[in-house]
Amino acid sequence: MQMPELDDLYADIILDHYKNPRNLGLIPDATLNAEGFNPFCGDQVKLSISVDSDDIISKVGFEGEGCSISQASASIMTNLLIGNTLDHASLLNQQFRNLMSGSTTSTTVGFDIGELAALEGVKEFPVRIKCALLAWATLVDAINQRS
Ligand code: ZN
Repeated sequence: MQMPELDDLYADIILDHYKNPRNLGLIPDATLNAEGFNPFCGDQVKLSISVDSDDIISKVGFEGEGCSISQASASIMTNLLIGNTLDHASLLNQQFRNLMSGSTTSTTVGFDIGELAALEGVKEFPVRIKCALLAWATLVDAINQRS
């Protein structure tokens, strides 16, 4: 699939994460593991998360294959999660979903969402929203294992 027409700067950020994914590789003995699949595009993401005793995410690793949007979204997500609590991870997930549904924008979200803003343009391409959300859906599955 072709990249949607996104703002050039944002397209550069997405391509950079796609070509040089951050936190690539699963963590042995991770606290939480989950796997996601987007049948509409064939994207796959495997996620492993290490959480310390204060519920702070100390390490995140992922593996995956699929389109640039799905893999860049996973890479950007892993960067944002490290050093944050699981509660904050859930909040980021909610805000990113709001961004994709158009109910909030990167300027009204109320805190710095970093490079997630690069994916905001994806909301104009409904088919690709599932690509952008795959890593986040996988994150929710991983967090839900903790009960
Ligand atoms: Zn995709």
